[in-house]
Amino acid sequence: MTISELMFTNEIAQAQYADPSATRETVNQGLDHIWQVMRDCIDRGVQQGGVLPGGLNIKRRAKGMYDAIHDKQAHGLPTDSNDWVNLFAMAVNEENAAGGRVVTAPTNGAAGVIPAVLAYYDKFVSPNNPDGIRTFMATSAAIGSLYKTNASISAAEVGCQGEIGVACSMAAAGLAAAMGASNQQIENAAEIGMEHNLGLTCDPIDGLVQVPCIERNTMGAVKAINATRLAMGGDGQHHVSLDSVIKTMHETGLDMMSKYKETSQGGLATNVIPINVVAC
Ligand code: SF4
Repeated sequence: MTISELMFTNEIAQAQYADPSATRETVNQGLDHIWQVMRDCIDRGVQQGGVLPGGLNIKRRAKGMYDAIHDKQAHGLPTDSNDWVNLFAMAVNEENAAGGRVVTAPTNGAAGVIPAVLAYYDKFVSPNNPDGIRTFMATSAAIGSLYKTNASISAAEVGCQGEIGVACSMAAAGLAAAMGASNQQIENAAEIGMEHNLGLTCDPIDGLVQVPCIERNTMGAVKAINATRLAMGGDGQHHVSLDSVIKTMHETGLDMMSKYKETSQGGLATNVIPINVVAC
């Protein structure tokens, strides 16, 4: 079975507990709804200007980025897929910072990575189709479950590697699956996605999920796409297993001093503006 088929089989069985007549279509409808909420979030995020709440006076940037891309298009100039991916992730996490509606995937602070990579698939990968979106989501969910079960997706426990790092790993696997990768290549993509986020601390300035969090989602999304490209350039053979990198992330997180784990008392948070408590 593919990883997504395993997930679909499980999801259908779970759905049938609640409703014996549930089918694959029931699960598809749920996934389509989640994707629609993600898209709505991006659409709203690119339209909002002004300053984010909280007191840091951070200017929202997604609208300006969107206008700049449109300006280029209006003048017949090419646009770069990276600019779009940055825009998608920025839009979602500015919405999160402003108290807008996001899909927790896997956390709110890291909610921009998966929608940005899904939107990249939707806009730039050809061929693509709704089943590809569903395959992406089911595969991402499988990978996320491994982190949640065997390590942690809480920055308070393991730092930002457990949030942006996990989101990156999930998105890399999902994109690879949607693009037709083998299970081995998918595992490799997920492993690369985390391997290059190991050690990432959680140090939000003034306890707000804004700096570095919003930009960090753009970095996670771009990194996920590159992880997929690296994995799909190979045959799935790789030296570090996903299980090993999950174990390493967990151990690294446990060894991390607590001030680098969502307390906002270390790193950027103390070197720019001090202290508060975070709710990422
Ligand atoms: S609050 Fe911490 S874990 Fe959440 S995105 Fe910001 S730095 Fe990462």
